[in-house]
Amino acid sequence: MELLIKESGKLIKQSKFTIAFTGAGISVESGVPPFRGAHGLWNKYDPQVLDLRYFYNNGAECWKYIREIFYEFFADARPNKAHEVLAEMEQNGLLQAVITQNIDNLHFEAGSRVVHEFHGNSKKLKCPKCDHVYEAAEINFEVIPPLCVDDGEILKPDFIFFGEGIPQDAYANSFEAAEKAEVCLIIGSTGEVTPASFVPRAAKQRGATIIEINPEETIFTHQITDIHLKGKASEVLPKISEALI
Ligand code: NAD
Repeated sequence: MELLIKESGKLIKQSKFTIAFTGAGISVESGVPPFRGAHGLWNKYDPQVLDLRYFYNNGAECWKYIREIFYEFFADARPNKAHEVLAEMEQNGLLQAVITQNIDNLHFEAGSRVVHEFHGNSKKLKCPKCDHVYEAAEINFEVIPPLCVDDGEILKPDFIFFGEGIPQDAYANSFEAAEKAEVCLIIGSTGEVTPASFVPRAAKQRGATIIEINPEETIFTHQITDIHLKGKASEVLPKISEALI
């Protein structure tokens, strides 16, 4: 592992354009569980509450669960060491973009600035009728469903639901970054969610070296990964940071 960390540090220092593609795994140690797997949220909740069509027809019912998952349960999550190292790398000119599937805002809270949120962000809510955007902090979640002050419509969290398209800017910016990447870190993602998982694949196709950080093997590991750093993001990334000095 030590040698692989050193090698990764060397590759990142040599690279003119490095990106990090992150999934639910990077936030696990911040207290945000993944959706799938043994402790995944879908063992407890019905994914239907995040289905776009179901939400439009049953907004009030869905909001009971949406409030519990995203605005009570996740509310206290704070960035961990892994988010912080990525922010430091950006500040030091060693990371050009984070492309995240996460909706928890933790990369921004850690100080990262160039973050392409492929699936949106739960800290914002939007009126489906007039597009008025609200900060979650300004919503009184004791009264649900939250309604638009302009037209009384039920607000939708501004992350993508099942059956909804990827935000256009995030999609374009993510693939643009992938095309430029010389090194692509894949951190805490199973690679099972498309089209997000096409981003690191696009980087690989354009010749990027893929460094994967995950305690488990994934779909990526045998298909596109060059270096697998088998461990938790919050333990491996600080070691990489040391190797960058
Ligand atoms: P995923 O497909 O992104 O996979 C999670 C991966 O993280 C697994 O491979 C697991 O081995 C790995 N992992 C677990 N702990 C880790 C750690 N400490 N360090 C590094 N890796 C670790 O996750 P999913 O749960 O299947 O998510 C499906 C979709 O929902 C994705 O788009 C995901 O990003 C999103 N989601 C987001 C959040 C969030 O905003 N934090 C939470 C749950 C799901």
